[in-house]
Amino acid sequence: MLPLLPPRLQNFRLNGREFTMLRLDEVHPFAGGNKLFKLKYNLEAARSTGHDTLLTFGGAYSNHIAATAAAAKETGFKSIGIIRGEASALQNSTLQFAAAQGMRFHFLTRTAYRLKETAPVLAELEALFGRFYLVPEGGANAEGVRGCMEIPALFGANYSHIALACGTGTTLAGIAAAVQPGVEVIGFPVLLNGQFLETAIETHLRALNGDTKPVRNWSLQCDYHFGGYAKVPAALRAFKTAFETEHAVPLDYVYTAKMVYGVCDLAARGYFPADARVLLIHTGGLQGNAGFDHKQ
Ligand SMILES: *Cc1c(COP(=O)(O)O)cnc(C)c1O
Repeated sequence: MLPLLPPRLQNFRLNGREFTMLRLDEVHPFAGGNKLFKLKYNLEAARSTGHDTLLTFGGAYSNHIAATAAAAKETGFKSIGIIRGEASALQNSTLQFAAAQGMRFHFLTRTAYRLKETAPVLAELEALFGRFYLVPEGGANAEGVRGCMEIPALFGANYSHIALACGTGTTLAGIAAAVQPGVEVIGFPVLLNGQFLETAIETHLRALNGDTKPVRNWSLQCDYHFGGYAKVPAALRAFKTAFETEHAVPLDYVYTAKMVYGVCDLAARGYFPADARVLLIHTGGLQGNAGFDHKQ
């Protein structure tokens, strides 16, 4: 399995209260973050089923594409990225990085991309590329959850609240399944109408629990999406810059900036009890910032 660097626990003060951030962005020099945890047992499953090629899906600036390409290279797999959109995206820094790791690409229109995990599209991909191990978009499967169950060991038992950004909810499910009893896990969906994640997360947790209802130690804060996935209004941009300047922590636009904003806002509204010890998980994503830095 690919070697990960130990992430720092970094403390910072905000409105007179101490917070800690788990810097998962630091576990890999280029592709740090939660995605490598989601890939760990997918790589094992690919290996144990005799595959030499990984195939997965993502957008043109996808953190998951970057991480899969890096992990495949480091563990000796070939990799194929099925990218939503047009081949002109090959010029961008994410796909340049992935190409440098040896990833090959295939582009799908937005319409075809919606059908990407249906039998006809998968058959077409197999005809093009031969046999492959399919990693779902974002690493959102049971293997992905299992890898994320290893994250709580990195921060130990010192915290009462764990905050993280959610896309598919896979990382939250793994963390909620593995934290100490009594710890509250708070997810910040970055998509519109994030309530839909409730079902996905519950399904993951039930699968781990032999279908009995697991303890409900998590909740979602669905009002910090800032207009939806990859939407970055000026207020969020300003918050990100101010936070980075004051605390010397780089954030990404799509996920961690929204989560940190949400935690600050909840703190200002008195959400956390006085004795709460709040841990924010930096899930990475910094490689994707290039897609936003030039826009104003
Ligand atoms: C993919 C990603 C997430 C979301 O993870 P899920 O397991 O899909 O909820 C959060 N933060 C960053 C930086 C990501 O790249």
